[in-house]
Amino acid sequence: MPAPATLSDNTIAQPSIAIIIDDLGEQWQAGKRVLALPGDITLAVLPFTHYGDRLVELAAQQGREVMLHAPMEPLSHPAWHEGLRRGMTQTELRDALAAMLEALPQARGVNNHMGSALTQERERMDWVMAELAGRGLYFIDSRTTPSSQALTSAQDHAIPSARRDVFLDNIRTEDAIEQQFRTLLRLARERGQAIAIGHPYPETLAFLERVLPQLGDLGVRLVPVSQLLHPLSEPASPPGGIAEQLRVESIPSAINSI
Ligand SMILES: [Zn+2]
Repeated sequence: MPAPATLSDNTIAQPSIAIIIDDLGEQWQAGKRVLALPGDITLAVLPFTHYGDRLVELAAQQGREVMLHAPMEPLSHPAWHEGLRRGMTQTELRDALAAMLEALPQARGVNNHMGSALTQERERMDWVMAELAGRGLYFIDSRTTPSSQALTSAQDHAIPSARRDVFLDNIRTEDAIEQQFRTLLRLARERGQAIAIGHPYPETLAFLERVLPQLGDLGVRLVPVSQLLHPLSEPASPPGGIAEQLRVESIPSAINSI
């Protein structure tokens, strides 16, 4: 008589990865190419763009997960005037964020576009997270500076959240992207899960078109980023909790110029 099946017999814990493609909305052809990628790519769309609405509509038809890619003030652009800025009052910042979210009502979560200046400011991050908490949205820290306060602020507001582990394409060559992808797979195997952010560059899309059909052979699952949050945003995550137990926040981060 066979031993009774256990959870681990049925659900061999397969490492999970999420890939967010952000900066979407101004390029129609590149956006369509992202929508043609196989698997559960997560789309992060800039607000108030020419093609954002159409891309989000198509993404919704495909059942793909959509996020708001919220512009936040970086250190590298002194004349920055978009999105959320350090000089804003709490009311101004929350109104600006609300307008972005209302422009993208399909968004289930948010990650920061740029933001190396704003995300260092804990009080501003608390204003952001208070708004997201009230709307039941999740947050992914793009981690454009190692000094970002965004994730700890999100955690303190009990918002389902995580941070980007790997940028796929800071260097836009096939070799460099492949190397970053290998890092993503290694982290996922070590910890049970890992999150990448990439951009709709031709080099990145060509790489993903080639590699995504092979993920099954590589022994990893591509999931919407909402399945890799802590705390989880929904009960749809697979059982087992191994990924959560292995989850650590100690991976050294490349310092990015943005
Ligand atoms: Zn961006």
